[in-house]
Amino acid sequence: MIIEKPNGKRYLKIGDYRFSYHKTLRDGRVRWKCSSSRQSCKVYVITDGDDIVSMVHEHTHSPAVHRTKKNVKQATKNNKKIFSE
Ligand SMILES: [Zn+2]
Repeated sequence: MIIEKPNGKRYLKIGDYRFSYHKTLRDGRVRWKCSSSRQSCKVYVITDGDDIVSMVHEHTHSPAVHRTKKNVKQATKNNKKIFSE
């Protein structure tokens, strides 16, 4: 699923993994790389329109490493605190 952020940047979501836009290939297909490439994760995905054409390599990490997920948890915690006071 390709998601467009309010700032115009796109990312690809497959399950709990996120991929950031890498480049558009000459034939118009789009290449995405795992947004956790910092963890030496080499996974990349090729899409054609909304279709996933191929996914290469395997993730070296669990999807939980994404910072955004932690932020959501933290926010939920804070909200609970506010409501209980
Ligand atoms: Zn990965």
